[in-house]
Amino acid sequence: MSTYMDAQLFQTDPQIAKLMEGEYERQTTCLMMIPSENYASRAVLQTMGSILTNKYAEGYPGERYYNGCAFYDMLENLAIERARKLFKAEHVNVQLHTGTSANYAAYYAFLELGDKVMGMSTAHGGHLTHGKDLNFSGRFYEFHSYGVSKKDERLDYDEIRSIAKKVKPKLIVCGASAYPRTVDFEKFREIADEVGAFLMADIAHIVGLIAAGLHPDPIKVADVVTTTTHKTLRGPRGAIIFCKRQYAEKIDKAVFPGTQAGPLMHQIAAKAVCFKEAQSFGFKEYQNQVVKNAAVLADGLKDQGLRLVTGGTDNHLVLADVTPLKLNGKDAADLLEEAGIVVNCNLIPFDKRSAMSPSGIRPGTPALTTRGMKEEEMTQIAKWIGEVLKKPKKESVRIAVRQQVREMCEQFPIYHDLLNWR
Ligand code: PLP
Repeated sequence: MSTYMDAQLFQTDPQIAKLMEGEYERQTTCLMMIPSENYASRAVLQTMGSILTNKYAEGYPGERYYNGCAFYDMLENLAIERARKLFKAEHVNVQLHTGTSANYAAYYAFLELGDKVMGMSTAHGGHLTHGKDLNFSGRFYEFHSYGVSKKDERLDYDEIRSIAKKVKPKLIVCGASAYPRTVDFEKFREIADEVGAFLMADIAHIVGLIAAGLHPDPIKVADVVTTTTHKTLRGPRGAIIFCKRQYAEKIDKAVFPGTQAGPLMHQIAAKAVCFKEAQSFGFKEYQNQVVKNAAVLADGLKDQGLRLVTGGTDNHLVLADVTPLKLNGKDAADLLEEAGIVVNCNLIPFDKRSAMSPSGIRPGTPALTTRGMKEEEMTQIAKWIGEVLKKPKKESVRIAVRQQVREMCEQFPIYHDLLNWR
């Protein structure tokens, strides 16, 4: 089996090959600080780019609607077993194409159209699929949002309880895309029980931390748990759903034939590889370092004059208000990208600005930590971020930082032997 980038593509489609080469250069010479991104292992990349993409396998192991699935059955069973062992889950479905399809299937299993649901407001860190009006979730169900408190920008469980008592939702969704603090799943369970609601936890962002025991685990607490596999878990793009045994059939039917047809078997096999990697030596240390790095990055950004939402972080990401530097998040992210530091702009709670030009940025540490970067590098990176953002009119600062970023990246090589064109 060749490396995933080889001469064949260059011969067949030089245009795509060239673009891939450009992206390779970007990924290896920039600081990837978007907290939902990571570098998948070579084994995961190889599995994704394999012959396993060639076949249909609608159905589940032992109950397929297509012949010739003997190896696919074994692969999918292995993925299921590994995920169940890693997360000590009663039931898991590994067929979800994306985090959005996982949430879609979970709603499909537990809700009827128009049912009342509670989810975290996207303006306060929730995901699009947690009830945004432009998303299917906001159109198909009656979502009621909760947020963080104005006082400390953390989840306010008393307020969530009082909304739940008023709304009486059928389902409460907890979990977020831009929340730097620990989520108290037990508290959510209490609230759900008080109002007779199902509880769903979306752990897409923090799943790696949970697998390593660094964040409370909702799998025994919630009725259903959805997660992506490509963020802190460092696997292929994709998702899985965990649920209690009693909901296994409901969830499996909601996935297939409810909301998906043919599973992406190359992706399922790559998920299996990622679950194996997550059980091997070094995974806990990696997640531990992700959290340590985020804390050091947070302190460094504070020293540079950014205001941190909640004052810091417990997890892999930092939500930072850049308006004290007289910038908005979009301009800040664009300036940083010129310097080779890639973050995304983000709304902060109670933002007075729009989603397209919000007040914040949301840097994270999973990808940098995969490269082997530690506290020393985080301190340096925070200084570079400060230098760039404090002198937005000085292109020379960005050029100088870009060069230093390149040099740092060279010291922490990634995929250095994968470029094998021509
Ligand atoms: N749920 C949360 C909390 C997320 O942060 C995301 C993606 O960022 C998703 C779901 C959706 O995942 P995907 O982009 O794979 O559809």
